[in-house]
Amino acid sequence: MDVTSIIDSLNDAQRAAVTAPSQPMLVLAGAGSGKTRVLVHRIAWQIQVEGVPAHSILAVTFTNKAAKEMRGRIEELLNISAQPLWIGTFHGIAHRLLRRHAKQANLPEAFQVMDSSDQLRVVKRLLASLNLDEAKWPAKQIQWYINAQKDEGIRAKHLLSDNGDLFQRQMVIIYQAYEELCNRSGLVDFAELLLRAHELLRDNEDVLEFYQHRFRQVHVDEFQDTNTIQYAWLRLLTQGKDNIFVVGDDDQSIYGWRGAKIENIYSFQKHYPNHQVIKLEQNYRSTGNILKAANKVIANNDGRMGKELWTESGDGEPIALYAAFNEQDEAHFVVERIRSWVNDGGLRSDVAILYRSNAQSRQFEEKLMTTATPYRVYGGLRFFERAEIKNALAYLRLTSNRHDDASFERVINTPTRGIGAKTLEEIRNIARDQAISLWTAAISLLTQGGMSARAGNALDAFLKLIKHLEQESEGLELFEKVQRVVEKSGLIELYQKDKADKGEEKVENLEELVNAARLFDKASVQMLEDNDANLSDLDMFLANASLEAGDMQGDDFDDCVQLMTLHSAKGLEFKLVFLVGVEEGLFPSQQSVEDIGRLEEERRLCYVGMTRAREHLYITYAESRRLYGRESYPRPSRFLREIPPEHMQEVRLRASVSRPAAVVKPRSGSIQMPSRYKLGQRVSHSKFGEGEVLQLEGEGAQERIQINFKQVGIKWLIVSMAQLEVL
Ligand code: ATP
Ligand code: MG
Repeated sequence: MDVTSIIDSLNDAQRAAVTAPSQPMLVLAGAGSGKTRVLVHRIAWQIQVEGVPAHSILAVTFTNKAAKEMRGRIEELLNISAQPLWIGTFHGIAHRLLRRHAKQANLPEAFQVMDSSDQLRVVKRLLASLNLDEAKWPAKQIQWYINAQKDEGIRAKHLLSDNGDLFQRQMVIIYQAYEELCNRSGLVDFAELLLRAHELLRDNEDVLEFYQHRFRQVHVDEFQDTNTIQYAWLRLLTQGKDNIFVVGDDDQSIYGWRGAKIENIYSFQKHYPNHQVIKLEQNYRSTGNILKAANKVIANNDGRMGKELWTESGDGEPIALYAAFNEQDEAHFVVERIRSWVNDGGLRSDVAILYRSNAQSRQFEEKLMTTATPYRVYGGLRFFERAEIKNALAYLRLTSNRHDDASFERVINTPTRGIGAKTLEEIRNIARDQAISLWTAAISLLTQGGMSARAGNALDAFLKLIKHLEQESEGLELFEKVQRVVEKSGLIELYQKDKADKGEEKVENLEELVNAARLFDKASVQMLEDNDANLSDLDMFLANASLEAGDMQGDDFDDCVQLMTLHSAKGLEFKLVFLVGVEEGLFPSQQSVEDIGRLEEERRLCYVGMTRAREHLYITYAESRRLYGRESYPRPSRFLREIPPEHMQEVRLRASVSRPAAVVKPRSGSIQMPSRYKLGQRVSHSKFGEGEVLQLEGEGAQERIQINFKQVGIKWLIVSMAQLEVL
């Protein structure tokens, strides 16, 4: 393999970083400046030119997707298999070490890794066994506490002598009991993986020496998001050696809320005194407008290490800003833009929709679905696949068809009502023997008698509940049916009580389901056959929900539009990016606006989001948003005001066509339409009180109106929903 191919495609600063002799190095540079590229090329250089064997290379990245990409790029550069390299996430590599050295790590060979929901269940079981009331000792909070201690390398025994208050002391006792339980059962949570791997190296000299010797070169991407224990682990491995190469960007630190320490960048410079810092300033990813706008936004943060990126590429298009009437209009707009992108020959895989919170994905999924556009959601389950949604749908299905066995099984004991595995087994047997539905079998079991009184009553109550729900929903609107079922089934109550395990989010998702039913439009369901046209609204809705949960999600290798949260977009790049829901209260999130530290982290997240775009960046916000079953009229995000107007243009719907054609107009202009209302007219709104009409736009369902309210100031409203009264 030709050496020049490794360094040819690099600028001077990058080349210096790639070819530098072994020494601690810190590449500190902004987004898209080639940090990851430098890291990959350095690994190739070390293997190719310096003769470092592939199996002596360790590279740590932040996600599995990034690790996979890195491996692929090294293979491409060197035309060798990258199999022997250790490339992975901190968690993945820690796991590998613990598997190899389970005994020295004081773990049983067959230890099990728990994900976060498993961990929560263990905490709950533990609280019950300690006779602690969950209302006073919320499991979720305890889980956070335990993980936060572990991220700092702190065991319960280190805390026992602390003279904290009563609450503190009890927490420590719980932590200790949790450790004991996990040790007894061979369970390892995510934070434990890291801590245990650190202790393994710290406490076993032979193991440490082996790996210090083995890993001749250690590389870390996204170093700004390492936590205390990860950094301590890196230090052990590279102690007394000059073989650590880290790349990062303080402006992209977005995991402070999970224990990441931006300070590790400073500690690195202290701990490795003979280190070299390399700065990269040329951005190769984005066009000028996108880059300059992102630079301006991040400049509003204090205490930055400070760097300014420039690009040789032209200004490109300005960022397009779209003010949607509501969240549906927002999704419609985005999906129409994607359609024309694809019609013009663009790849779907070059397109990303990025949002702050997973709950925002549903609107986009639905619109992508109805236009038969393949897409893939990274992280987070798709809406209709979430357990709480499936539970609610199962109840709905039973009210429509009692003999739906899958639904029957799913909710017969959810929420728990004392119907055990034994009863269910009996029902199954009867159904199988007589070839009848579970519902009919259940009735038959009840009439046969022979069940315990308790089990019999519980089963009877379940059957009655379904019959009751069915009768009650007679004649109701679809959304009312859904609402009633969600409430009366006990699901809302179940999740409300569940203070941990995302109970709140599940309640919100159920409210979203009611919302979806309210907005459900039969006519838009293109996928149903004609002869389904006389299905009831409920059945249409249910059929649509299963279609949505089913086939449309593309495979790994299909050409799909990518949907993900801003957090999971770190390190990635796309030609066309939609940054959606850029509103106060959503992004920045409500909890962050009062805390300057958290607000700055949100701003870094905004910087990360904007800098994912290579050629086209669309930013959208909705002037009215129904999310979690609540309607709000958010203000555009403060981050939008931080983008200089010369880099951004507002997209307006064309006057003569209601949708979807769009034209780009200067930000200030707005189009006026004939309307029932007139400028200057005085109107009254049930919630906002009296006000004066300032502007009018759009027509029909899209008509909106800007009003200066005496009490609450200027607001945009959708005429068809605002129910205004002319005074
Ligand atoms: P982030 O901070 O978002 O992780 P990064 O600094 O890691 O970004 P890369 O992903 O390595 O940046 O590079 C951004 C893009 O620029 C990639 O498409 C990369 O291939 C390209 N690039 C980087 N350096 C050069 C170069 N010298 N010549 C051509 N393209 C380059
Ligand atoms: Mg990178």
